[in-house]
Amino acid sequence: MSRPAIARIDLSALRHNYHLARQRHGGRALAVIKANAYGHGAILCARALADTADAFAVAIVEEALELRDAGIRQPILVLEGAFGPDDLAHATAHDLWMVVHNAEQIALVEAHRSIRPLTVWLKMDSGMRRAGIAPAAYAAAHARLRALPQVGDIVLMTHFARADEPDVATTAEQIATFDRATAGLPGERSLCNSGGVLAWPAAHRDWARPGILLYGADPMPSDDHGLQPVMTLSSAIMNIRDLAPGEALGYGGRFVAEVPTRVGLVAMGYADGYPRVAPTGTPVAVDGQLTRVIGRVSMDMMTVDLTDLPAARIGSPVELWGRSVSVNSVAQAAGTIAYELLCNVKRVRREIVSTTPA
Ligand SMILES: *Cc1c(COP(=O)(O)O)cnc(C)c1O
Repeated sequence: MSRPAIARIDLSALRHNYHLARQRHGGRALAVIKANAYGHGAILCARALADTADAFAVAIVEEALELRDAGIRQPILVLEGAFGPDDLAHATAHDLWMVVHNAEQIALVEAHRSIRPLTVWLKMDSGMRRAGIAPAAYAAAHARLRALPQVGDIVLMTHFARADEPDVATTAEQIATFDRATAGLPGERSLCNSGGVLAWPAAHRDWARPGILLYGADPMPSDDHGLQPVMTLSSAIMNIRDLAPGEALGYGGRFVAEVPTRVGLVAMGYADGYPRVAPTGTPVAVDGQLTRVIGRVSMDMMTVDLTDLPAARIGSPVELWGRSVSVNSVAQAAGTIAYELLCNVKRVRREIVSTTPA
């Protein structure tokens, strides 16, 4: 028998979430599968969505080429755009759509020679202030690209800084800025990430760009949007110890038993992607029952509290996150976000689950 650490990937849940996003937004939806599909396996997820997804999005050209090598034929948008002429050559050779977010990238497109017109998603900085063409310069940038024979369709896009906070005004301001600066320009529009899809109907246009919601981690977990978690990260108890009051546990000895404490050692650590910073008290499920992490997470192992779970034994299944323990609740305890936890999963075996045919 091999080490029980497993990331189970439920492809039916992925499809459910994709359909939910598209239905909620209307129009078409790019499935964002950058960063190895947020740790879920990009090729696997692309294949699971290949018969339905309108298009895919990745961060960099290398990620797109892996998908092309795997036989994925849908359009693929490269969200960071070109870093140099080679990226545009790949885009033409492999039919990739490219984001253009600054003057340097416009110059690269101008210098690009191609018989096949390149589809460009021209990104506006409507208030995130990270990248994108300034609203006042947007129409001119659009005109410059439109005049180029090597440019085909131009999709107008922007990205939200705080779409997952429905009560703040900045998203409405970003929408208004975008609409003002694109008024009269031809072309399809795309504004919404997951938060926008779920919380900002005023921003629903031709294309949605859902990422995290596809994986069932709700960006606004206080509301139930009907998402299904795709990844279940699980392992098993590999050893059990009893601590007497006053005894310290693990590296640093930070957890000291106050009462007789039964400790389960779990085959999962930060080298698998479980966050080392998850403190004592972080939720975890053993035999389907909620308990807590105790002591420091180490590289290959971690410890959980079995004091109130007398039936737990070596081999008892442990869910680190999934349907019993939401990845959002672990992220919150660890002071981070579900995105980071999911992206970090590594070393563990992946097991594919699909309840409906692909
Ligand atoms: C990553 C990304 C998305 C997806 O964001 P989520 O919050 O995961 O839905 C959408 N658009 C752009 C430009 C991105 O970089």
